[in-house]
Amino acid sequence: MASNLLHVLPPQGLLRPLAVPERLLLGPGPSNVPPRILAASGRQLLGPMHPEVLQVMDDIKVGIQYAFQTQNQLTLAISGSGHCAIEAALVNLVEHGDPVLVAVNGIWGQRAADIARRLGASVYELLKPPGEYFTPWDIEEGLVRHKPSVLFITHGESSTGVLQPLEGLGKLCHRHGCLLLVDAVASLGGAPIFMDQQEIDILYSGSQKVLNAPPGSAPISFSERAREKILRRKTKPPSFYLDMRWLANYWGCDGEPRRYHHTAPINSFFSLREGLAMLAELGLENSWEHHRVNCAQLCQGLRDLGLELFVKEEKARLPTITTVRVPEGYDWKEIIAFLTDNYAIDISGGLGPSEGKVLRIGLMGCNSTSRNVDRVLHALRDALRCCHHSKL
Ligand code: PMP
Repeated sequence: MASNLLHVLPPQGLLRPLAVPERLLLGPGPSNVPPRILAASGRQLLGPMHPEVLQVMDDIKVGIQYAFQTQNQLTLAISGSGHCAIEAALVNLVEHGDPVLVAVNGIWGQRAADIARRLGASVYELLKPPGEYFTPWDIEEGLVRHKPSVLFITHGESSTGVLQPLEGLGKLCHRHGCLLLVDAVASLGGAPIFMDQQEIDILYSGSQKVLNAPPGSAPISFSERAREKILRRKTKPPSFYLDMRWLANYWGCDGEPRRYHHTAPINSFFSLREGLAMLAELGLENSWEHHRVNCAQLCQGLRDLGLELFVKEEKARLPTITTVRVPEGYDWKEIIAFLTDNYAIDISGGLGPSEGKVLRIGLMGCNSTSRNVDRVLHALRDALRCCHHSKL
């Protein structure tokens, strides 16, 4: 019925059908969602306190404990993407004026430092050029100089393709009275990490990389030391949504009856559960091995194309995301567009400090296959030939 009450008309775009092309996602994430996980996210809704949903949350919790290799009770999934997990960690750990040391060798350290500053922390940055990692000596120097209560470091630096060695860092931090906070959004399931054995105090990840679930939920876990620091806070965390006391209760981590806190993204939890189940079925060690082997095949193929890997040391290369220098005389945007237009393959340019310098190729979870390596190498070979006219 025509009406002159409405000054804003139904938008034309919304009257067209939803358009989502098929694309092979070989960028730094998200990765493609396999049918089993897609089906889980399309299941009918239940309420956030229904026992079946609480059971799914319990399944997620033990799935995260397996993926993280931890027995921590305070283990759950944040209702939000990886950034939300960074904020959840810092918002709960940091109080005004707390000294926080951030290892910055790419964008994730930069972002963590930004978030910690917004919380009023005294932030100190340890700097390394993009493409490099921190040694225990670098870290110890920072701990001695700044006496932080928390150290932030990124395990899988997805903006540069660096895998940060974690061995010994937990012990080192504890010797200096500091908690170790690790970002494993881009590495979990693709490279070994042992939360308890490596004495990591706070570890988080994301759903949309190796776990192959849609974005929107983020596994996180806190050691006993970290939990005690949260309980000792003098002030409430400045976020209600991310308050770990509330979330611990909603996730059944505090032994108290579970209470409604927020309407969780229930379909995201269904798919995260399935992503964790698939990882458990495959086995962590098999998953790490797939990622190692396929990344090695990709690196060799890229070298055979005459391309230069951005991370020099083989052991410092992230098995999930490979960075390669933009070849001399080519426009990186054209290479990416060529792959999308001609092969329906998505790869990505650099991010933050690596922007304009590298191309990033991700092989994560179900996308980490030898066939996908062949596909992307074939497409890149073609791109290098056909984008020839764009030589600068
Ligand atoms: N940390 C790392 C290492 C990442 O790769 C990403 C995502 N690219 C994030 C944090 C942020 O995750 P999200 O985009 O899910 O917020």
